[in-house]
Amino acid sequence: MSTVLVTGAAGFIGSNFVRYWRAVHPGDAIVALDALTYAGVRESLNGPDGELLDGVTFVHGSIGNTDLVAHLLRAYSVDVVVNFAAESHNSLAILRPGDFFATNVTGTQGLLEAVRRVGVSRFHHISTCEVYGDLSLDADEAFTEDSPYLPRTPYNAAKAGGDHVVRSYGLTYDVPVTITNCSNNYGPFQFPEKVIPLFTTRALAGEPLPLYASTKNRREWLHVSDHATAIDRVIHHGRVGETYNVGSGTEVDIEGIADTVLGALGLGPELKTIVPDRPSHDRRYLLDSSKLRTELGWAPAVEWTDGIADTVAWYRANEAWWRPLLGRSPVIEGAGADWSG
Ligand code: NAD
Repeated sequence: MSTVLVTGAAGFIGSNFVRYWRAVHPGDAIVALDALTYAGVRESLNGPDGELLDGVTFVHGSIGNTDLVAHLLRAYSVDVVVNFAAESHNSLAILRPGDFFATNVTGTQGLLEAVRRVGVSRFHHISTCEVYGDLSLDADEAFTEDSPYLPRTPYNAAKAGGDHVVRSYGLTYDVPVTITNCSNNYGPFQFPEKVIPLFTTRALAGEPLPLYASTKNRREWLHVSDHATAIDRVIHHGRVGETYNVGSGTEVDIEGIADTVLGALGLGPELKTIVPDRPSHDRRYLLDSSKLRTELGWAPAVEWTDGIADTVAWYRANEAWWRPLLGRSPVIEGAGADWSG
């Protein structure tokens, strides 16, 4: 039995990970830390009875608060830390870069400082394909764990900086770190500012779906439950100090997502609206995840066609979750749908 500190636990992937961990490792205790920024939804950690999930202790606070985290590590005898906490919205990062560097770089360092002080058996850090930069649409290649870091936006650069901080604490202070760099996730409990819930909730309301003009840009899509199994595999079997890419190999462009969501709701293409592109909008990311597959035997279980149908159905059925969140995102005039990974 272990105690796991999950940071950013009220966000999209963090809350799905907490649910997954409770189901698969019911003997473990979870401490869920979240600063509850506009993107943090405490209710995402509730069970069907509307109460916080059993076995989970929620703490409202920041990863950058080293004293708080050190206290939590000691008070709950934490064995494993999994860091999901981040500012995660690429278009917003263009307006407010300072917030992104403060959380994703300096906040990560504050968290690691607490871990260094107290000690844990594993610090696992969640990162993204976006640190590797940009692939052309017709490139016959994919990013490996050895690809150079070439971030091109403040969000990507801040995530890259956080990864470097993690590696430096591993090498310098022997903190037992692992990192996963994952492709775009989709699934339930994603904040309705991100492309799939945004398109779904807009379509349900008969409102326009804003597509950035580069409609053939594409991303690699992984169901959030498959991300959880990959992280579990790396925590239990991954080698300390290593990085593992996590991807499905399934690529879909922005237009394909809009068409799929509209089709799933029985709607035509009329709601698609093209808006001017954002600066440094990467065309494509694709990960080579063969290291995770061959070394740790991981494979995704959810096919895109099933996963996206289930996801659209989830948002249709769970308006009570997303309706109160509309209007909470900072306004970005003229922005297209965000698909930060
Ligand atoms: P999200 O925005 O839904 O959740 C982030 C959570 O972090 C929120 O609950 C927020 O309140 C919390 N947070 C922000 N600053 C904090 C701080 N200082 N201290 C504690 N909590 C803080 O994001 P997400 O999509 O769930 O992404 C989680 C992680 O996964 C991020 O690190 C992101 O870079 C990474 N990632 C995301 C994707 C994707 O497709 N969404 C893909 C690959 C990697």
